Formats: sequence, structure tokens, C-alpha cells
Amino acid sequence: MTRSTAQLLADRARLMGPNVSTFYNDPVHFVRGEGVWLWDADGRKYLDCYNNVPHVGHCNPRVVDAICKQASTLNTHTRYLHDGVLDYIETLTSTMDASLDTAILTCTGSEANDIALRMAEAVTGKRGIIATDATYHGNTSLVSQLSKSNIPSVGFGLGQYFRFVDAPDSYRHPDPDGTIFAAQVAAKIDGLIKDGTGFAALVVCPYFLNEGFPDNPDGWLKPVADVVRNAGGVLICDEVQSGFGRTGTHLWAHEKMGVVPDIIVLGKPMANGHPVGGVVAGCDIVAAFRKGYRYFNTFGGNPVSCAAAMAVLEEMDAQGLQANAKTVGDHARARLNALAAKHDVIGDVRGSGLIFGAELVNDHATKSPASDLTDGIINAMRARGIILSKLGRHKNTLKIRPPMPFSIKNADLLFDTLDDVLTEVSR
Ligand code: PMP
Repeated sequence: MTRSTAQLLADRARLMGPNVSTFYNDPVHFVRGEGVWLWDADGRKYLDCYNNVPHVGHCNPRVVDAICKQASTLNTHTRYLHDGVLDYIETLTSTMDASLDTAILTCTGSEANDIALRMAEAVTGKRGIIATDATYHGNTSLVSQLSKSNIPSVGFGLGQYFRFVDAPDSYRHPDPDGTIFAAQVAAKIDGLIKDGTGFAALVVCPYFLNEGFPDNPDGWLKPVADVVRNAGGVLICDEVQSGFGRTGTHLWAHEKMGVVPDIIVLGKPMANGHPVGGVVAGCDIVAAFRKGYRYFNTFGGNPVSCAAAMAVLEEMDAQGLQANAKTVGDHARARLNALAAKHDVIGDVRGSGLIFGAELVNDHATKSPASDLTDGIINAMRARGIILSKLGRHKNTLKIRPPMPFSIKNADLLFDTLDDVLTEVSR
């Protein structure tokens, strides 16, 4: 059945329940994707500057082929022996510090974060968790407590274990070496110890993507990692968005930020849209978790998922996609800086590799966020066939995070169009 947009919206509310969100004032109905391109039901072509899940490109032939081959051979679960899961974990962990040698595969980033928090509890014997006040780490009962702006109004009373520090904000509250952030975390740890909760873990995205990817210099997490370790806690780096070469300079953003986490959480781009997430940690942490919690995931680590995930790593290597992220990302930021010189509304340009964007403000002196205008720009870009979004505490930061094969030509189309839209909105 092919429905009209109006019918799709009505049927979504009827069949999926109310409050299922869509992007855009005029929601878009995609029917096909290839590389960095998407097509809607009317055959209109869009440049995808937003989706990081199709990491190696929409419908990447190597990934599609790997899925089809394995799906037509065997798909079971990890209670039977299979090479695929072992080959994948071995390849994945070989890209990380030698201390991170063991993994549990899941289907989502939420599950992976849930495991990471429980690992922290199992290994420290404590429950106090610290996160930033503008983050998102997923949707389980436990993990949803980490999103301060989004904490469920109902729930299982888990909020008592969570504490929040200010999300870093290089534009409004500079903290060039991460010591202010570290001091805030130290104060929260003291509080957790004093009130008897105890401290288990700090969980952060090492590039703070959901917070608006502040311009933290390389090595910025070192001071806070010391604070966490000195207090006997574990450092969890949620690389669901920041990993797999997206920052261009490093395969993993924690390397860029100068730390070796105790636990790494993975998801989104891991298998190019096939649902795969994972937790990587040292064998001792995984052993403590398995002792405390019986854990089995029916779909996690199945042969088809592992084939898809392996194909992503192979494709990244074959196409040099991390290097591409660096080259195209550098070009993109140069173009954004040129636009900032021309359009007053751009207050700050940030990013690394193929995560970049601009914070839009009403006035450079007060830095008052131009949140409504940002929304208008995103809708105007959609009308011109460019898909992007916004994020950050004030929802005024353009979020540009395209599939990794994004080219300089693609970036030029994006910024030529953005130039037109900014000129139009400033009239
Ligand atoms: N961690 C981060 C940093 C995320 O951005 C998200 C999803 N946006 C998640 C975890 C949750 O992943 P999932 O939706 O696969 O559960």
C-alpha cells in the first residue's frame, strides 16, 4: 500500500500511538537510499547531511552483500559456536587499547549503556553514576535516568543514583584544559560518598555530541579521568555517535580526548543500520558483570549482525573513510567559517571530521540562542533537498553528521544552499 503524507501521519497516530515524533514541519517520506543520497516517494533526491547510522553509505553494497550471504546461510544466537562473532570482536578490539579485549554484543546503544552501568556497579560495588545535564544515552529504565532534560515522569525510582554536571560549552563557558569539568565531577563524587550512595562511574560521550560537540582540545578528558580513577570509579565512554572514525583524526574519540576508558559503549553506525550495539571492556570487568548478572541477548552477536558489522570495518578500510572524514571535515569547517564572516547569525563554528556545525545566535555579545531561526533554517534546507538537524542545550546548533563517504562536492552543495537560506532568513 502506498499512502499519501496525510494518510501516513494519520495511520502512524492510529497504529503507533500518539507522540511518535517526526522531523520537519513537512515530514519527509523516504523510499530509497544510495550512498549519501535519499529519494522521497515523489522521486525527489535529497543530500543526506545528517544520518550517521548508514556510516559507509546508504545501502552500501559490501554490507548488503554480507547480510544477504549470511542470512541465506545461517542465523542463530551465541549459545551455538560460530566464527563470526569471534572474528568480529577480535577485529574490533584490535583497534583499541590492549586493556580493552572483551566485548558483549547487543542490538542497541541503550542496551549497551545499560550493561555498562551494571558493569560499573558489579566491579565497584557502588551505584552512583555521574553524567552531563544535556546528554542522551538511551531509553531503558536505568539509562533513561541519564538524560536530565528527558527523565521519565514515571519510572522505577532509580533517579536516586544519578548526579549531573554542567555539559561542557566551549562557546559560552570556556574550560580549555578540562579542569573545571573535572572539579565539578570531583564535587559530585564527594556528594555521592557523603550521602552513602558511593561512586561507581562517570559516563560521557568523549566528543559530547548530544551536548553540541564543544570545541574541546585533544586530551581534554585527562583531568576528569584522573579524578574518576582516584575515587575508585570507572570511566565509561559512550562512543555510539563519536566512534568509528567520525572525528577524522582518530578512530575513537576517547583517543582524541587522551584517555583509555574502562568501558566503551558502541551502537548506531556499527553495522550501517542493521541493529548492532556493543560494550567493550577488560576481561576482569566483563567477568565481574557475568558473575553478578546472568546475561544473554537473543539477537546480540548473531551471525548476520556480525557479518554486517564486519563489512562496515572492511569498507571503512577499503575506502579510507576516516581519512575522508578528515579531509572533507576540514574543508567543511573552512566553508562554515567563510559563511560565519558573511552571516552574523553564525556565532560559533565547531566540529572535527564529519561532525560539524554552527551555533546560531541573535547577537554576538549576549550569545542569545537563535533557536526558532535554527528551526526555520532546517525546514528551509529540507525544502531545498538538504537533510540536516539541530541539537545542543538551546537547540540552536546546526548538526551536520553525514554518511562517511560524503565528498567535497557534497559539502559544497550543502554550503552553497546554506548560504542562500541564511541570506533569505536575514532579509
Ligand atoms: N548513546 C548515545 C550517545 C546516543 O546518541 C544514543 C541514541 N541517540 C544512544 C546511546 C542510544 O542508542 P539506541 O537508540 O540504539 O538505543
